[in-house]
Amino acid sequence: MANYFNEDTIIYLDGAFVKAADTKMNLYSQSLHYGYAVFEGIRSYRTKSGETKIFKAKEHYDRLRVSAETLSLPYEYDTDELIAATYKVLADNNLQDAYIRPLVYVGENMSFNKNTSAHLTIQAWEMGAFLGDKLLRIMTSSFERPNPKGFKIHAKAAGHYVNSIMASQEAKAKGYDEALLTDMNGFVAEGPGANVFYEKDGKLFTPSLGNILPGITRATVLEICQALALPVEEKFFTVEELYGADAAFFCGTAAEVIGWESLDGKPFTKNWDETLSKKIQETYSALIVEKK
Ligand code: PMP
Repeated sequence: MANYFNEDTIIYLDGAFVKAADTKMNLYSQSLHYGYAVFEGIRSYRTKSGETKIFKAKEHYDRLRVSAETLSLPYEYDTDELIAATYKVLADNNLQDAYIRPLVYVGENMSFNKNTSAHLTIQAWEMGAFLGDKLLRIMTSSFERPNPKGFKIHAKAAGHYVNSIMASQEAKAKGYDEALLTDMNGFVAEGPGANVFYEKDGKLFTPSLGNILPGITRATVLEICQALALPVEEKFFTVEELYGADAAFFCGTAAEVIGWESLDGKPFTKNWDETLSKKIQETYSALIVEKK
């Protein structure tokens, strides 16, 4: 378990900077009982120049707003102010390489009725750049992603992560590193906390939007493909199509770009080091620390 906070840790809570250890959670919170909250997962990095830089800060806080509005959670925050508050949380805690977790939640309310106010907290803890060379052994999950007719799947809602937790725990219990979930039509959707790409014959593919979280890293990978003039296509595809790929990877803020060794025990035949995917991984790792 990561060391999320200690007695000195400072968090942002409703406009103030306070000690994490002094804060209280209302146990009658509608968010706690029903998973009715939205959040973000952001990273900051110590850049090549030594500065601390939050990667895609605006994109993340814009998505937080969309998530809150999608779920009818009160949200009256200004993105620029929240970015400034986040930099202060990092500075107050002496953090450069960090994971940042903004969370919008509501207070006591056991009904299903709308709330007139909400809380916003920003927490951060140390997290070094990952980009491991160890390739992942992935299992197709027995769980599907939530049906977009039942959930607003483009929102990063807390309750959706019960699905992620079940899928991830199932894969790990079976000896795999992580799960791959399909959508309600049986097409490849995403991982419990990351989007997916595969590479075949010099071209990249990723699931179309609609049944997945529109990942900010996914968008960054699409930009990288454009910058490197790599052909890329968004489409719906099956697990069988993925079995025949040259390479595949997960991408997400926490996961960054991480290659797969195998899917359901079937290895990807191309050597990761010789793939376009690896080139994308390297470009991403240079981008986050502004190493041109
Ligand atoms: N899908 C899911 C379900 C996720 O939780 C995440 C992580 N936020 C992603 C995809 C990747 O999104 P991002 O690149 O914005 O971190």
